[in-house]
Amino acid sequence: MKRTLTVCPYCGTGCMFYLVSDNGRLVGVEPSSSHPVSRGGLCVKGWNAFAFVHHPERLTTPLIRKNGTLEPASWDEALDLVVARLTQIQRQHGADSVMFASSAKATNEENYLLMKLARAVFQTNNIDHCARLCHSSTVTGLAETFGSGAMTNTISCIDETDVIFVIGSNTTEQHPLIGSRIMNAVRSGTRLIVADNRRIRLARQADLHLRHTNGSDVPLLCGMMHVIIAEGLADTKFITTRTENYAALAESVADWTPERSAAETGLEAADIIAAARLYAGAERAMIFYSMGITQHSHGVDNVRCVASLAMLTGNIGRPGTGVNPLRGQNNVQGGCDMGALPDLYSGYQKVSDPENRQKFATAWRVPALPASPGLPLTRAMDAASEGKLFALFVMGENPLISDPDQHHARRALENLELLVVQDIFLTETAALAHVVLPAACYAEKEGTFTNTERRVQHLCKAVEPPGEAKTDGEIICAMAKKAGYDGMSYASQSEVMAEIASLTPSYGGISYDRLAPHGMPWPCPTPEHPGTPILHHEQFTRGRGHFSPVSHSLPREQTDADYPLVLTTGRTYFHWHTGTMTRRTHLLDREEPTSFLELHPDDAARLSIRHRDRLLVTSRRGSIQTEARVTTMVIPGVVFMPFHFAEGAANCLTNNVLDPESSIPEFKVCAVRLEKLP
Ligand code: SF4
Repeated sequence: MKRTLTVCPYCGTGCMFYLVSDNGRLVGVEPSSSHPVSRGGLCVKGWNAFAFVHHPERLTTPLIRKNGTLEPASWDEALDLVVARLTQIQRQHGADSVMFASSAKATNEENYLLMKLARAVFQTNNIDHCARLCHSSTVTGLAETFGSGAMTNTISCIDETDVIFVIGSNTTEQHPLIGSRIMNAVRSGTRLIVADNRRIRLARQADLHLRHTNGSDVPLLCGMMHVIIAEGLADTKFITTRTENYAALAESVADWTPERSAAETGLEAADIIAAARLYAGAERAMIFYSMGITQHSHGVDNVRCVASLAMLTGNIGRPGTGVNPLRGQNNVQGGCDMGALPDLYSGYQKVSDPENRQKFATAWRVPALPASPGLPLTRAMDAASEGKLFALFVMGENPLISDPDQHHARRALENLELLVVQDIFLTETAALAHVVLPAACYAEKEGTFTNTERRVQHLCKAVEPPGEAKTDGEIICAMAKKAGYDGMSYASQSEVMAEIASLTPSYGGISYDRLAPHGMPWPCPTPEHPGTPILHHEQFTRGRGHFSPVSHSLPREQTDADYPLVLTTGRTYFHWHTGTMTRRTHLLDREEPTSFLELHPDDAARLSIRHRDRLLVTSRRGSIQTEARVTTMVIPGVVFMPFHFAEGAANCLTNNVLDPESSIPEFKVCAVRLEKLP
């Protein structure tokens, strides 16, 4: 038996474990007892993270669509075709007629390489990844207020805090080991506030459970800030010495009395007052949030309010405090850090800055780089359906299931002249592609992932990829060579990291020899620097923290007589994202085999729906069939669906309306009606 220390491929918690293999086949997983996050534990997805690797449906050879059918091809044939078609389309329609979708499941090195391929070789800033769908509001909102869009503190700070405020995060299901750490802290005396109208697991242990209406986070947070200021609970010394624009914030929340906040949120004024007193009264308080905050048409405003609440009370820059956006996928933090974003190079360096362009052009040995920011992924779908985008290269994502308004996404993908998908299985998106490239999975390659607390961790190769599958990095570099670019030949992934470090100040001191055994947190600017567990210690990344007042806006789609219920979407404990890996893991699929919809017993009684009845769910964009789960997990008037399942796909129903600043879709609120099927 061989044991290989590596990083979990599922959530951003970033647990490390040993993959156990026997004769080149994975047979199990052993947690790392000394890892600071996993500490000898794993959730059910981690324990089963070996099971999909040898699945018989793994892609083993390139496929090219001929006469409507995907047929096996050689690597040379497939890559020649991809490069020739991309070049031809660009010649015909311009450099920005093609788009590259990077992957939060790929390594930092691979995200960097795809970013370099798009910008240096194909001369377009049309590169983005699925952070657009989960935390682009965080990147925009926290960059404006703090100067950095990342989690400010560490997961282990949970053990040192007095109060934890969880808003819009079903932590025990989405980030299970962080969720269990919060539960352990509560058992040891830490106070807990949960704001989420689902009765999630954490809510059962909370001192206060605020079941506010969907999309009313701004009224709730402004109401809390009003109370904090009115009752003299604000940290005036912190505000004076560390922040700017406080007067504007104070003015903006002056009208948000607890009574007004209660009227907008559906809560009791007394509960809003109690939450404000509990949070502001703590010596150290942490905020955790996730997509319940970000996935709104006003997601950036939600993030601004969270940041203001923390600054108002001085809960930044110390152990046991902070604003902590929990990143969804294993390497969504790294995908952002590596510049798989349309307006930023690695390390959040703006493409619009001529000095940055010159720096990267010199390092990459190209005469110039494109100056105007590219398309966000969510707007690329609109461009494709309108005939303004002609080619899309997708690495390790499944937008047909993960994007809002599935009919719109399908129309967009089918309208492309060239769709290339590089993945480990024939996903629903890959099944539509003109060319499919078989990729190695996490267990079959070396590289780094950056977890939600900015910890850069090394993953090691445990087994060989199946058939002719290659790593994403090998495929990208081979494409660059076919396109006539000789600046992407690397002897190893550590060489790629050395190039990243040379161009990316926050990764400047990171190298493979420093990452054993359990990684280090950025910023790490020099080879001697120990890494930075807590951000904004003496000053914010931008200098002074900036209070950004907001005004309240409602979700863009409201209920009415035809669509009387609010649908909200999310994930479940047993599955991950579009189910590409977890639905090919027997134990996980057995526990949660198919799509379902949660509805409150009052709504069920009114509609004569019983537990496990088959339902037709209809929104203004489409209909799907699913199974009813009658439960008090949800409040009356609200229904919940997970989005993992291609059959009964929740994203057939969701609304493609975007936050104007971050371009994140409003996954968390749309209007639906239910009909019981015979
Ligand atoms: Fe993997 Fe997240 Fe579970 Fe840890 S908590 S084992 S990183 S899915």
